[in-house]
Amino acid sequence: METIVIVGGGAGGLELATRLGNSAGKAGRARVVLVDRWPTHFWKPLLHTVASGKHDPQVMAIDYAAQASEHGFEFARGEVLGVDRETRRVSLAPWIADDGAEVLPARSIGYDKLVLALGSVTNFFGVPGAEQHVLTLDDVAQAETFRQRFVDGCIQASARQAAGGQLNPGIDIVIVGGGATGVELAAELSHSARTLAKYNVHALDPVRHVRIRILERGSLLLPHLHPRLSKRAARHLRALGIKVLTDTAVARVDGGAVLDTEGCTYPSAITLWAAGVEAPPLCATLGLTTNPLRQIAVAPSLQALEDPDVYAIGDCANFVCPIMGKVPPRAQAAHQQAMYLAQVLGQASPLKAPFAYRDYGSLVSLGPLAAVGVLTGTAGGRKYPVGGVLARLLYSLMYRKHQMALHGVVRMSAQTVADWIRQKLSPAVKLH
Ligand SMILES: Cc1cc2nc3c(=O)[nH]c(=O)nc-3n(C[C@H](O)[C@H](O)[C@H](O)COP(=O)(O)OP(=O)(O)OC[C@H]3O[C@@H](n4cnc5c(N)ncnc54)[C@H](O)[C@@H]3O)c2cc1C
Repeated sequence: METIVIVGGGAGGLELATRLGNSAGKAGRARVVLVDRWPTHFWKPLLHTVASGKHDPQVMAIDYAAQASEHGFEFARGEVLGVDRETRRVSLAPWIADDGAEVLPARSIGYDKLVLALGSVTNFFGVPGAEQHVLTLDDVAQAETFRQRFVDGCIQASARQAAGGQLNPGIDIVIVGGGATGVELAAELSHSARTLAKYNVHALDPVRHVRIRILERGSLLLPHLHPRLSKRAARHLRALGIKVLTDTAVARVDGGAVLDTEGCTYPSAITLWAAGVEAPPLCATLGLTTNPLRQIAVAPSLQALEDPDVYAIGDCANFVCPIMGKVPPRAQAAHQQAMYLAQVLGQASPLKAPFAYRDYGSLVSLGPLAAVGVLTGTAGGRKYPVGGVLARLLYSLMYRKHQMALHGVVRMSAQTVADWIRQKLSPAVKLH
């Protein structure tokens, strides 16, 4: 029986492990092992809602061990440090508990087929001070750090304002990057600032005193959308009181400020870097062809060019589709690639056709009641712009679709109801 090891239990990796476990694992055709550095899975496109306090990651996270036992795969917790392609083993770092005690020593797992689904990390583009002084949204821990700093920052600014004597009372938050992550976070933060004022957590004016700025190097927000939709998103953010500064390239980040290439300084108590992603450093250590973003070059079969036993999917893969061009680092690409590999690996009669990416469009949330984006039609690939509440509803369905892939329709429906009830019973912003 061959062993298929999947490294990374994110949008692509967990779906693949679940599908393969259900088919090949349960049928005894393959041993499927999922490896991740964390014990739980959280769907990355919702990380901005953890940062704003809207969602509690503890409630929404999926326990890998429980998912594994239900769906016929094994879970091994640990950070993969390297892959020996000669002996076909992945090496894991020791698992260290929060109190510093070693739970498990360094170890290795053998594979017949290896799938790399490592996702991406923030790209700082070498901007001086960025790595030292900014926060990022790469994982739940970082999103939680942002939330805590945001809530604490509002409380501190409120206390300083009450003490008086300040020229410019309030708090400054700078988001570098006007792509989907930056825009979605800014909109959610603006709503959270209002809710915190309503709860009397702070006594700041949520618009005048919680100053949120987006600095975008290009001339428009959301460059992947039609300019009309980008302008619509910018208008929506400005109506919320968010300052949108386009054609503003960041030159340096200091402890309390961001400086642009024109010499302007933007005060910043919290700086969030959302200017782009690249594949994790591990991808460049495997002796496989990578692009300048360290993404592993894969053939239409999603196999690494130099090693047919190694596959890469999601953000860490560089697949150039003959029809659609380069596949973007999106959850929908990771999902499609997971579906494809589930039909290729560990099957009695594997799929022979190459992977073909289909762009179903792109939706960007602008807060609880609005979104903007395009949907791509099935016939001729025509794009349909969508906005407002309808687009927001469609945006919410993306997460439900992910849940359905992992749990099936019945459990997804039950969770949707449970989430709705929980939302009614819990505070609108997580405070602790
Ligand atoms: C705020 C935000 C909003 C987004 N919104 C959207 C959206 O609206 N639509 C969309 O399509 N996409 C969106 N994206 C992008 C989307 O989240 C990613 O494209 C998608 O998650 C990629 O899936 P993946 O499986 O490649 O990697 P991930 O989902 O990032 O998973 C990678 C996994 O690998 C694990 N891992 C990494 N390195 C190691 C290691 N060395 N050892 C062990 N485990 C490791 C990580 O812990 C993680 O669990 C958004 C991203 C962010 C941050």
